[in-house]
Amino acid sequence: MSHSISSSIPMRTLRAVSQLRDSLQPARQAGLTVGLVPTMGALHEGHLSLIRRARERCDVVVVSLFVNPAQFDERADLDRYPRTEREDARLAERAGADILFAPAAEDVYPAGFASCVEVLGITDRLEGAVRGAAHFRGVTTVVTKLFNMAQPDVAFFGQKDAQQALVIKRLVEDLNMPVAIEVCPTVRERDGLAMSSRNAHLLPGERTRATGLFEALEASKRLSREGERRADTLVAAAREALARADIEPEYVALVDPDTLEPVERLQGPALLAISARVGDTRLIDNAILEPSHQEISISRTGASPAKAPA
Ligand code: AMP
Repeated sequence: MSHSISSSIPMRTLRAVSQLRDSLQPARQAGLTVGLVPTMGALHEGHLSLIRRARERCDVVVVSLFVNPAQFDERADLDRYPRTEREDARLAERAGADILFAPAAEDVYPAGFASCVEVLGITDRLEGAVRGAAHFRGVTTVVTKLFNMAQPDVAFFGQKDAQQALVIKRLVEDLNMPVAIEVCPTVRERDGLAMSSRNAHLLPGERTRATGLFEALEASKRLSREGERRADTLVAAAREALARADIEPEYVALVDPDTLEPVERLQGPALLAISARVGDTRLIDNAILEPSHQEISISRTGASPAKAPA
C-alpha cells in the first residue's frame, strides 16, 4: 500500500517544469515513488481508472494534461479536441492526483525546438499506417519530454491505445529509461463503447452505431472461443458486425501483440485491432483473442484434433 501525500493537501495545478521539479524534489529525497499519468484532458472514467491505479501504486501522483499538437495528423481534429481543464482538475483531484501538470504549448515546444524521438518498425503499422509517421513521432517525443520533466518511477497507459502502449514500452526499453510502464484495462460505457474523449463528438445516431466496434470485437472473440483459428475468418466476423452497424473500417487486423505483424492463425494471444470513422469521428478499439481452451487441451494431450473426439 502506498503512502499518500494527498490526503490533507489539495491538488496543485502547475505550468512550469521548474515548479514541477521543485515540488517533486522533497518527495524524491524522502524516497517516495512518483507515478505519472499522461493525458490530453477531457478526462473520463478511462483516464480516472489510470489515476486511481497510480494512487494505489505510487506515493505521489502527477497527471499531465497537454493536448500535444505534434501528434495530430489533422488540423481540424486538433482544433476541435475538447478542452475542459477546470472540470479535469476537479476529476483528477477526486481520483487521487496530487499534481496536475498542464504546461503551455510554447513551453513544451519553444522557438527553436528541433529534436524528436522515434521508434521504428512497429510505428509503421495500424495507426501509423493511417495517421502517418508524424503521429507516433509526436507521441514518443512528448512522452520522452514528460518523462524527463516528471522523472516518474511508474507511468500509466491504457490498453485502449494498445499500439501506443507497445510503442512506449519499446521506447523505454530501447533507450534505458528508468521508468516502469503499467498498462491498464480499457474502460467501457455500459453498451461496450470504449470511453474516449472523442466520443463527445458523436451525434446521437452515430453514438448508437459506434457500439459496432465493440460488437465486432465480441463477434470475433465468440468465434475464437468456439475454436476458430483462421485469421481471415475471425477478421471477416468482425467486418460483418461493423457492416451491420453501417461502419466502414479503416482497418481490422489480427496481429501479434508484440510485433504487430499480421497472424494467419490464432496460436497464442493475438491483438484484434479496429479503427473506423463514425461520421467525422475517428474511433479505435481492440481486444486480445486467445485460442480456445478446448483446442489447447487437445494439443497438450498430444492427440491431433481429428482423433480427439474418439
Ligand atoms: P488521451 O487523453 O486520449 O491521450 O489518453 C490518455 C491515456 O488514457 C492513454 O494512456 C490512453 O490509453 C488512456 N485511455 C484513454 N481511454 C481509455 C479507456 N477507455 N480505458 C482505459 N484507458 C484509456
